[in-house]
Amino acid sequence: MAKINENFLKLQAGYLFPEITRRVRKYQQNNKSTRIISLGIGDVTQPLAPAVVDAMKIALDDMTKENTFRGYGPEQGYDFLIKEIIENDFEPRGVKLDKSEVFVSDGAKCDIANIQEIFSTDNVIAVTDPVYPVYVDTNVMAGRAGNVKQNGQYENILYMPCTAENNFLPQLPDADVDIIYLCFPNNPTGTVASKQTLKKWVEFAKRKKAVIFFDAAYEAFISEPEIPHSIYEIPDAKNVAVEFRSYSKTAGFTGIRCAYAVIPKQLKAYTKDGKTVDVNHLWNRRHSTKFNGVSYISQRGAQAVYSSEGKKQILGIINLYMSNARLIRNKLSELGYRVHGGTNAPYVWVKTPDDTDSWDFFDLLLKKANVICTPGAGFGPSGQGYFRLSAFAKPKNVKEAIQRIAELQI
Ligand SMILES: *Cc1c(COP(=O)(O)O)cnc(C)c1O
Repeated sequence: MAKINENFLKLQAGYLFPEITRRVRKYQQNNKSTRIISLGIGDVTQPLAPAVVDAMKIALDDMTKENTFRGYGPEQGYDFLIKEIIENDFEPRGVKLDKSEVFVSDGAKCDIANIQEIFSTDNVIAVTDPVYPVYVDTNVMAGRAGNVKQNGQYENILYMPCTAENNFLPQLPDADVDIIYLCFPNNPTGTVASKQTLKKWVEFAKRKKAVIFFDAAYEAFISEPEIPHSIYEIPDAKNVAVEFRSYSKTAGFTGIRCAYAVIPKQLKAYTKDGKTVDVNHLWNRRHSTKFNGVSYISQRGAQAVYSSEGKKQILGIINLYMSNARLIRNKLSELGYRVHGGTNAPYVWVKTPDDTDSWDFFDLLLKKANVICTPGAGFGPSGQGYFRLSAFAKPKNVKEAIQRIAELQI
């Protein structure tokens, strides 16, 4: 008899995006000629930078010739890419890394989902509320979360509310925690962490002998010069943190797939009887057992992100998204909405007028303005009374959507 892993039965039905789709479909069926604009998407819309495309075409050509053909590459990624990562993403910010500390992968989502499996299932994890659901669901699957409570939260997870009162920055837990998930710039709130904030977390993790999983998928959208791009800009962070980066939002790779994780040599975790274990070594063992590397063509494309042409073109695309974000922020503020984020992140987190329920506001926006937003409550109880607008839409659609919201006069 094949028995199932019953932890999977504790997952809640994927609710947020399927529910949005269901409501939109129903409305569209009854209003066939209405043009609905989505500011709900978490996916990019601009095509790849030409420098990336050119590099991938050359890489594909390499694959057609006997003397440049490549089969399996190193599981950890090609040196040509790892070298660019270290020299461009870290050295200019004063962070030195060895090439054995960088692991190229096919996505930050997979890395963040997979990393927990080298840690014991009796670790207590802490996540923010609202939260990127991958952090929670992968711990549910592993059996670390326990059962779900009435409010949709799990009994063994420590949730750190992020609200306007704390500027959407989680407070240090007063309980013992072993693993902490942080995401800055944040999805969904668009919040960033200062050096001071990250220092507080690094010191906390050191005190608790805990590990921080730092999701920096939106690092490229940081515009304010004093905001750290990497947690390793904080002294001692290499002793307590893993960092996740991705070309998905940075360079439009959501359909190409390429990302990387940094696992410093100094990072230690512990056996039950308190012996130290090298996390980098274990991750290397896991990664090379379960993963056979990212396509050569994708990695050549990622390498081109760091060429001088590539950098210029990608900055142009990021600026386009960020001018969308600025427009959303400015117009909604003028209309009297309380807006957050959107300065160092492609997401704007907005308070619903008069504390309207997130889903009620979603329906109102859909039916009265024909605009799709993402209801904040879908990311956790502290997201109730908020909605997220994405700057990843095409500029002309953003302009029209904002105009429609303005005409609502609420
Ligand atoms: C989009 C996103 C990622 C990136 O995932 P990929 O698998 O690299 O495409 C990671 N974390 C967050 C919070 C995201 O929104």
